Amino acid sequence: MSDVRVRFAPSPTGFFHIGSARTALFNWLYARHTGGTFVLRIEDTDKERNTEEALRVLMDGMKWLGLDWDEGPEVGGDHGPYFQSQRSDIYREYLQKLIDAGRTYEKEGAIFFRLEGERYTEYDDYKKCEVEKVRTTPQIIDDQVRGRVERAEEKDFVLYRSNGEPVFHFVNVVDDISMGITHVIRGEDHLSNTSKHCELFRALGAEPPVFAHIPLILKSTGPGKMSKRDEGALIEDYQKNRFLPAAVRNYLCLLGWSPKDDSEVLPIDEIIERFDFDGINSGNARFDEKKMAHINAEYIRQLPLETLAWMVSPILVEEGLVDDSTDEDYLQDVLRVSQEKMTALNALPALIGFFFSNDYAIDEKTQGRIFKKGDPLARIRELIPLIEAEESFTADSLDASIESLAESQGFKKFEYFPVARFAVSGAGGGPDLLPMISTLGRHRVLERFQNFLEIHATSTS
Ligand code: GLU
Repeated sequence: MSDVRVRFAPSPTGFFHIGSARTALFNWLYARHTGGTFVLRIEDTDKERNTEEALRVLMDGMKWLGLDWDEGPEVGGDHGPYFQSQRSDIYREYLQKLIDAGRTYEKEGAIFFRLEGERYTEYDDYKKCEVEKVRTTPQIIDDQVRGRVERAEEKDFVLYRSNGEPVFHFVNVVDDISMGITHVIRGEDHLSNTSKHCELFRALGAEPPVFAHIPLILKSTGPGKMSKRDEGALIEDYQKNRFLPAAVRNYLCLLGWSPKDDSEVLPIDEIIERFDFDGINSGNARFDEKKMAHINAEYIRQLPLETLAWMVSPILVEEGLVDDSTDEDYLQDVLRVSQEKMTALNALPALIGFFFSNDYAIDEKTQGRIFKKGDPLARIRELIPLIEAEESFTADSLDASIESLAESQGFKKFEYFPVARFAVSGAGGGPDLLPMISTLGRHRVLERFQNFLEIHATSTS
């Protein structure tokens, strides 16, 4: 194990926002890339929002994405407790160090951090009074993403509020020191806090860690940052909508990081191997719903058939399409011929439901198109004896038979395809027609052709 120690330090809010998930992911990737340790620390000082439920949402989301932590809640570790709400004694101990070093003072019940430097007063337009300022030496941050950042604090700041609660800046730094954190990878919104944090690190006798502030995620259009109300912002929605976790994780990797050759769909082992600060872009990342859906579809298409069958069975059972009596081989055949056309597991019942049930949706647009030209009923009547007689019933043999039927009738074979597709599935698209007919089998195809004739012969007569 290397000396690298990184942490994800969320304040659970009840939602797992993709911005947080991406921060967790980059920390995890860096830990796995360097062979270091990934710590999960819960910044739960806001007692109202930090409920058991909020913690569950967060940890479930991390587990779903496969972001396992080496130290933290549930797994423990040598640097606990991993909840800020349980670390009050540690904060008091560190406060004592600052008191002993003469770096604090009390004012109106609060404890302030005293900056070092020449003091002067200045009129504050906003507060309409004179305020005390300090000329400090700037803190120089060699940020791994933003480059060199120089910032100087000019006002003492609060460490403990008058209600006795320590503030974020203080507990965050104390935890990073006492947990031996070597690299702080977090959202760019924290860049403005970094000079305060460096002041505290140094006052506590510690070198600041390496910082990497990662770019914000913008909503899919417009200038704003992605908020929890934006479509696609919450990990729990991807869980609910049955995205593949590996696909979501792969997409999140690309939100702010890119592999040198711009590849997109990459196995996680390869991402881990290639992940480094060099590949993190300093420009903001824009959320792209279509790309996420595209990567998810790619992952679905790459699944081994057995895994796919295992994943989709519960969905098909839930929809009442398959049950214990469904033939396993038939299910696998259906998936084999349909996998190429799958886009999302949630869309699966609509895509392949007709293989299992006669009660499928009829696409009216396609129906309109089919009846607009030619004579669909006659084409189906011609196909029936072919389906009855066709011996091997493979995609290839069906192709050859339809070809010669078409020839004998003076048509192109594609004259038959859309009608046949509509008659067996009610749709205008879907899996390739001939493998689909071959999989459905003679009996089902004939049954549907007959139904088609019955329904439309009466409705058009
Ligand atoms: N609790 C802070 C947050 O959720 C952590 C900031 C940090 O990573 O230092 O933004």
